[in-house]
Amino acid sequence: MPVGSAREILRRLHDVMAARTPAEAKLDQVAGIVAAELGSEVASIYLMRDGALELFATRGLKQEAVHVTRLGLGQGLVGTIAETRAPLNLAEASSHPRFAYRPETGEERFHSFAGVPIIRREAVIGVLAVQHVSPRAYEDVEIEALQTVAMVLAELIAASGLGAEPVAPARPRETAALRLSGVRLVDGVARGVAVFHQPRIRIERTVAEDVEEEKARLEAGFRALREQVDHMVRQAEFAGPGDHDEILETYKMFAFDEGWARRIHDAIEGGLTAEAAIESVAQAQRIRMGGVADPYLAERLHDLDDLSNRLIRIISGRLGTAAALGLKEDMILIARNLGPAELLEYDRRYLKGVALEEGSLTAHVTIIARAMGVPVVGRIARLREQVAEGDPLILDAGAAALFVRPQASVVRSFEEQAALRAKRQAGYDALRDLPALSRDGIRVQLLINAGLRSDLPALELTNADGIGLFRTEFQFLVSATLPRKARQVALYRDVLDAAGRRPVTFRSVDIGGDKAVPYIAGREGGEENPAMGWRALRLALERKGLLEVQARALLEAAAGRELNLMFPMIAEPWEFAEAKAVVERARAALAARGQPLPEAIRYGAMFEVPALAETLDELLPMVDFLSIGTNDLTQFLLAADRGNPKLAARYDWLARGVLRFLARVVRACEAEGVPVTVCGEMGGRTLEALALMAIGVRRLSITPAAVGPVKAMVRSAELAPIAASMALWLDTPGTDIRAMLAAEAAARGIDV
Ligand code: PEP
Ligand code: MG
Repeated sequence: MPVGSAREILRRLHDVMAARTPAEAKLDQVAGIVAAELGSEVASIYLMRDGALELFATRGLKQEAVHVTRLGLGQGLVGTIAETRAPLNLAEASSHPRFAYRPETGEERFHSFAGVPIIRREAVIGVLAVQHVSPRAYEDVEIEALQTVAMVLAELIAASGLGAEPVAPARPRETAALRLSGVRLVDGVARGVAVFHQPRIRIERTVAEDVEEEKARLEAGFRALREQVDHMVRQAEFAGPGDHDEILETYKMFAFDEGWARRIHDAIEGGLTAEAAIESVAQAQRIRMGGVADPYLAERLHDLDDLSNRLIRIISGRLGTAAALGLKEDMILIARNLGPAELLEYDRRYLKGVALEEGSLTAHVTIIARAMGVPVVGRIARLREQVAEGDPLILDAGAAALFVRPQASVVRSFEEQAALRAKRQAGYDALRDLPALSRDGIRVQLLINAGLRSDLPALELTNADGIGLFRTEFQFLVSATLPRKARQVALYRDVLDAAGRRPVTFRSVDIGGDKAVPYIAGREGGEENPAMGWRALRLALERKGLLEVQARALLEAAAGRELNLMFPMIAEPWEFAEAKAVVERARAALAARGQPLPEAIRYGAMFEVPALAETLDELLPMVDFLSIGTNDLTQFLLAADRGNPKLAARYDWLARGVLRFLARVVRACEAEGVPVTVCGEMGGRTLEALALMAIGVRRLSITPAAVGPVKAMVRSAELAPIAASMALWLDTPGTDIRAMLAAEAAARGIDV
């Protein structure tokens, strides 16, 4: 259908909508306009009422059939369109297996049939159909014209109060309980309603009042979109190499695609508003490519959908994410992907979990979510199609599943688990003000790991002994640009203020490798083995400016207090010496300018690289303390990737080799009088913490949620006999220490 007549239809529809005629009469007029403009012998409008599609208006079929002919969902061609939400285009209607003949309509004369769903707020509320006597297939442009009319009709129906209700069966597959599978990115369980990070914009106005103005809005929208896409490519908004590159490439291709812009432009010429034109082109594209089985093409279609949505959001000025809506109920965030900074915008009290279509174990958003204790399931295919805004959800990351509109049994089991957790937590809360003291009088220091401002209240809540590891790189990960010194100072000062008299140990930035930030490491040339790559101190010693600025920020923030600073990934003692020298030079420079300085600086090394065990005799006299990062150390000792779920059983902190190694390091520290802390996740597991205590560790820095359980364990244990058993097991070949320790703990009533 030529643009001229599309515009004519819209103009006439606009007049109909504006007139003061009763709603039913309007529908009748619309049927007349469609029949006349498309040259079809029949044009009919069916609306959803009481669970069936009822003929509300027709040109060409018998008028007696109006309000008489009713088709259930999935029944006949009309019911099929409503059920599948897809158009039908048939040269010979009766050859379709779902064809249902209705004698009252008198439609036996008509052979060809085309129909489209009328969709409002993502629910089918009716069907618009045309028919011809002679068998003919309708052209794409005609189907598109029908869709455009259907879009306008949806608006007319809503405004007229015709009562076409999107009854539940209109989306049968979307009201049933579903279990969607993905990949566990951050463990945990959560319950809440579905909230889309980028809410879908509902188009309220479809017919253009002023075509020129709509074109101008589109042009401005495209300019902004192209800028945004360019910016995303530059800043690598999604951070981290991988499929994002492909998405960004596609975004770029579409954003600058003349064909796409022209089709939208033509639809505006045809009389639609800019938003409706974008939507109608996207719909047409979805239909054209809807059947593609090729996953690559399906992904690209997804990209176009995202971009259409973004363009509509730009044009309608509704750019905010759901975070800006200030939601006040427990929610599970739904998104294709997220940046770490975007995640931080959500109110932590209500953000219970995250479900993503993409995502990976090493993505920054995953690292931040883990630090926040928010469970995440990623890589859920077609997530946003299968979940609707406001759907009740249960996220079970351990099972890598998202339960959509869960059945009562799933809800019950969640509630039982939650009640159990609450009971346990109440027990831990009762221990808050008691020390982590074993039954035989051994005091264990329990510190927390932190990295975000929002972690700070955990200090008070848990009454921990301090912060044993402050991961300064988090500020870098959530920032699109390099955090300047003033921002670093502000954060470090807040941390020290929140800690008060409790000690804080800062770790210099551990970026690079899998925590690459585009403004430092660059996106090009991703590393084969990022964990063993150009990261942490290796990077900091080569980009000295980075370390210098951080040193000055820390010195400034800790003025008048004690500064504890440690360096990550030390492989050889000279690295520690060089890093310390950078900080000392910064201290001297500040002193020369008469600026206030920390009262004392204590320097520490993180023990994460196994070879360091061979040079401890050199290193220990140089350091004030040692902190064992068992997350990295274990993966290097066992050559088992810490993030690979397939290796979870092999990545075993209680492997005899690992424990013997740790015992040796702890002994060396004791001999040299160097305080030692374990700051990996290992110390946050009760059985593992017991093992560490048994080999002489007295300071653990752990995730805040683990403080209660570990303290309860310590207070229930008599340590001396466990230490004696441990010494024996370490010396006995073939001992399964995990099994032995668990059995002994159970026998002695230790709360693990
Ligand atoms: C570790 O490796 O154990 C550690 C604490 O550092 P991160 O987890 O930040 O690598
Ligand atoms: Mg580490």
